[in-house]
Amino acid sequence: MSRKRIIAGNWKLNKTASETRRFLLTLRNKIAGMDALPEILICPPSVALETAIDAARESGIAIGAQNAYWESTGAFTGEVSTEMLESLGVSHVLIGHSERRALFGESDENVNRKLLKVLSGTLTPIACVGEMLEDREAGRTEEVVVGQVKSALMGVAHEHARRIVLAYEPVWAIGTGLTATPGQANVVHGLIRRSVGAIFDGAVADELRILYGGSAKPDNAAGLMAESDVDGLLVGGASLDADSFAEIIRAAA
Ligand code: PEP
Repeated sequence: MSRKRIIAGNWKLNKTASETRRFLLTLRNKIAGMDALPEILICPPSVALETAIDAARESGIAIGAQNAYWESTGAFTGEVSTEMLESLGVSHVLIGHSERRALFGESDENVNRKLLKVLSGTLTPIACVGEMLEDREAGRTEEVVVGQVKSALMGVAHEHARRIVLAYEPVWAIGTGLTATPGQANVVHGLIRRSVGAIFDGAVADELRILYGGSAKPDNAAGLMAESDVDGLLVGGASLDADSFAEIIRAAA
């Protein structure tokens, strides 16, 4: 089964709207001559989404949000709904990034509510899972990661399952410069794919794109993506620089 790769940039709390425009105009030029491009996604801060959509028009670069709430409207100060994102032209949204879980108290149940809400609309969710260093050292990687996957997918209808993208991001590798080896990543991706197959069926598991995230950069991107179950990368730090992000895109092309 050939799955189209995705290279996604998560900018976190970085870049103003004008920096976003400049980056996207530069990236457009850098990818213009490349063949067999993967799906390319940039997730800027929410206040730069509109600028990003405008700057990325007809470039093949999709724009995603970093988070969305599970209610549509109401007294939820500071939150953004999926309908608001859809109306801007956003196509993807990250759900359950480890920084949301660790710094903003998002539970597995919150992640599940968000995923179900996203799936009730048109956005493509990228749901993030990953173990902490102490989980890995205690031999609990499978239990933690598969547990997060099962909990995130609770109640997801079969007809929606094909829209989901998952990202395996070992917490110990995010922003630390430590990367899972390609082999370590592939083992966990295989576990994730099998658990999704057990929840839905083999066809959903075969089509599922599972991205790796955690200090992905130009010099390790090709090695990670050479693994059979690694279908692309979710890139934090290295997505902030147009040269290094373009290099990672080239590795996937
Ligand atoms: C991320 O935040 O999703 C991420 C993978 O960050 P970094 O690439 O900087 O480790």
